[in-house]
Amino acid sequence: MSLEENIARVKANMARAALEAGRDPAEITLVAATKVQTSDTIRAAIAAGITICGENRVQELTAHLDDYAYDGAKIHFIGHLQTNKVRFVVGRVDLIESVDSPRLLEAIERQAEKLNLVQDVLLEVNIGREESKGGCLPEDLPALARQAMDLPHVRLRGLMAIPPVAAEPGANRRFFAATRQLYVDIRRQIGDNDTDIDCLSMGMSGDYEDAIREGATLVRVGTALFGPRPPMHP
Ligand SMILES: *Cc1c(COP(=O)(O)O)cnc(C)c1O
Repeated sequence: MSLEENIARVKANMARAALEAGRDPAEITLVAATKVQTSDTIRAAIAAGITICGENRVQELTAHLDDYAYDGAKIHFIGHLQTNKVRFVVGRVDLIESVDSPRLLEAIERQAEKLNLVQDVLLEVNIGREESKGGCLPEDLPALARQAMDLPHVRLRGLMAIPPVAAEPGANRRFFAATRQLYVDIRRQIGDNDTDIDCLSMGMSGDYEDAIREGATLVRVGTALFGPRPPMHP
């Protein structure tokens, strides 16, 4: 299948899942997870209708930016971000989806202040409480959200989660539902009427339809668009 066909199929599946859940398909945006893809593949994806690229690694982000590969699309940073790499990301991406600690928030604030801009962020929550994964624990989320709201150069836009790998279809839905509840709670904590919080990023190639059924507004899809990735380089 070609990239164009894959994009069309994923978008059709997204729309069907939205309609089944009584949602407007226009509420949900496909983020192409472009890790290990070349600049030319990224350009082809954008030409075929991808409007947001999700990048995992600072090194790849920097290389593709130097190539102008993302022209015509927005960029989300979706990978683990070390505080010492923040200067390569702040102000260069539209949204940092993977903020998970007070230290990282402070580092983003300092760099955004230096650049005199406001950086949009999501807080990543480790909804499956997995040792191997990034994200803050659910109980630490309210304090992190409060901190983000108090930082003048950071704008909190919502939550991101990567649930455990599903053993069987549907096994992830309770994690998506739990993330959705945290999102609703954060909105309520901040004040439902006065909020920029409108992003709930969850769902990948294997489970994006379930994520949409449970309220996702952003789904991050790689394999279903670009095919299987080679094993990760070290
Ligand atoms: C790679 C990646 C995805 C996409 O994964 P696929 O299973 O290939 O769709 C989504 N989110 C993050 C954070 C990723 O690193």
